[in-house]
Amino acid sequence: MIEIPIRQSWLNTLSNCPEWARQDRMGLVTQKESSDMLRGNLVHSAIEQVGLAMMRGEDPTFDLMLGVIDDEFEQNVDAVDVWRQDHVRVIEIARNNAFAWYEEVRPLLDPVGVEEEFRFKLDERDGVRLVITGTADWHNRDGSIWDWKNPSRKYEPWEKKRWDIQSHVYCAAFGSTEFNLVALVDGAVQRIEIERTEAHTEALKDLCWSAAELLQSDLKVWPKRWGWWGCSPKWCPVWQAGECRGKHLGPDPW
Ligand code: SF4
Repeated sequence: MIEIPIRQSWLNTLSNCPEWARQDRMGLVTQKESSDMLRGNLVHSAIEQVGLAMMRGEDPTFDLMLGVIDDEFEQNVDAVDVWRQDHVRVIEIARNNAFAWYEEVRPLLDPVGVEEEFRFKLDERDGVRLVITGTADWHNRDGSIWDWKNPSRKYEPWEKKRWDIQSHVYCAAFGSTEFNLVALVDGAVQRIEIERTEAHTEALKDLCWSAAELLQSDLKVWPKRWGWWGCSPKWCPVWQAGECRGKHLGPDPW
């Protein structure tokens, strides 16, 4: 039996650009750490600590979140390669988002798992087993799965309901039909409720088998997708490494 592990986040990379996904899978490139990632991590860590306290039966105050944000910033500030906002603004947004979550989202929740890693068999055929891995932000007692994002602007709900892959994976992983995507946007809360059924899981299997075909091939390069915002030296690590379009156009083509 051949086992093919696929990480949930990698499916998004594959959807965005297969060649980026190939290079990522082979460990040829690494994403630069950005202040956007740090901002998201600060809020995630603060929520995680509140969730763990709730699971212990405690009633944590908002001060717990402020302390986590300050500590995490101190520990990780030097790892950031690309600052898209200054230090003060990163902390300010993280605090605003944490407060909005604490006030508006936390009262809805009763966790049984936070930052819960999963690994499950999605499907098996012809001697090949597809295994999906990932980490769920929040597994609630009512069976719903919750995920936190810290984007710069709100999402279009219909886009997420139509195309979001993460919700397919998490609902399949936990046997749930209810996925809540919570976008925290500089102190504003956007909650998008997404339903995923067995039909969505079957579609996910097809998606992952298409990925498995590529992974089992010995193609030296996978299709390159130019027509999206991430195909730029600002976002793509392949480009930044001087490969693909970066080999010809350099780091500052526009
Ligand atoms: S430069 Fe564009 S086409 Fe090439 S790997 Fe990056 S996103 Fe894909």
